Amino acid sequence: MSGKAIQAIEISKRYGSTQAVRTLNLDVEESEFFSLLGPSGCGKTTLLRMIAGFETPSTGQLFVGGKNVLGVPPHKRPVNMVFQSYALFPHLSVAENVAFGLKSGPKIAQAEMTARVGEALNLVRLAHLSERLPAQLSGGQQQRVALARAIVNRPMVLLLDEPLSALDPQIREEMQSELARLQRELNMTFVMVTHDQGEALALSSRIAVFYNGNLEQIGTPKEVYERPSTAFVARFIGNTNLIEGTLVSSDSSSARVKLNNHKEVTIDNSTVNGAASGSKVLISVKPQALTISNQSDGLESKVIHRSYLGASTEYLVRSKLGTELDLRVAHVTGHSDAYDVGQDVFIDVDWKNCTILKNTEETGAGAFESRGEPS
Ligand code: ATP
Repeated sequence: MSGKAIQAIEISKRYGSTQAVRTLNLDVEESEFFSLLGPSGCGKTTLLRMIAGFETPSTGQLFVGGKNVLGVPPHKRPVNMVFQSYALFPHLSVAENVAFGLKSGPKIAQAEMTARVGEALNLVRLAHLSERLPAQLSGGQQQRVALARAIVNRPMVLLLDEPLSALDPQIREEMQSELARLQRELNMTFVMVTHDQGEALALSSRIAVFYNGNLEQIGTPKEVYERPSTAFVARFIGNTNLIEGTLVSSDSSSARVKLNNHKEVTIDNSTVNGAASGSKVLISVKPQALTISNQSDGLESKVIHRSYLGASTEYLVRSKLGTELDLRVAHVTGHSDAYDVGQDVFIDVDWKNCTILKNTEETGAGAFESRGEPS
């Protein structure tokens, strides 16, 4: 199992009648920045806590660095966890908080302890504040202390539970770059739980997307964004539009789909995700593949909502296909076109590079909003 930092085989977790994590297989390579992404309650934290040793899986096997860790208590696993709340000791200084991270490991001499604490504080750029108490630090600085404490004993894997969620947006962006830098400099495996798509796309080498306890897709940011394999992933990452149709035919490079208005479209560079000819499908279309105008033969639509976003305007339109479509128009110098709510417009779709998804009851457009509690 060399090269794998984490290997989860047929892992699942049930709490009473709640299936928090459905049976899954997942590998994380050494030195990866791997994210577990999904909305609240999807099971991502439960999986992280099983890796940390705070929860016992209901089924399956779990290896960290090739060693079976089931039955091994958290402090004896080669992992450390950074908690959302930072969990710093309020009565200990920054340096003492970081030194605490060395206490659970093998005993080391005071001089080495001081050197390692200094090195960890340098890595998070906090050496100048080592004597302060946590209450005398900003949120971002407290987060850095928590990070320093978690890396000071050089774990094989650093587990991060929504590490940036308590920070305000500006600091959050700054800390995103800090996390990326730290991971690169340490060349350590990071596994981060987040519900923020942008954060996962920006930081991760690979992302596992969860929904309702189910591992929906694992892939690079580009793969999950450009080639979602389920309707949930398509909608959750990148606000994708889903247009219903019937797959007429497909080959390795293109597909023909009949829309609900009986028009057929050819989709080049498409993936059909195993959908069979004749079956109901959803075409996943990115907002940037749509253009709005009042003089075209595109999809007849009506504007139902308009939001001014500064650099762009976002429109929500209802097309005559019965589907709502979301698109953005970037503001260029001299831009004057603005379509009003209630106005009839045409939507042109760039049908290249769209992904075709099976339209089953499980993955139907909007179905993920109404899916019930897992059982
Ligand atoms: P969040 O982002 O809100 O923390 P999450 O995706 O991390 O959500 P989990 O915390 O893993 O989700 O929870 C998954 C499911 O398991 C939820 O339905 C939750 O209510 C349930 N659950 C989690 N921990 C327990 C527990 N100790 N006992 C019972 N049910 C639990």
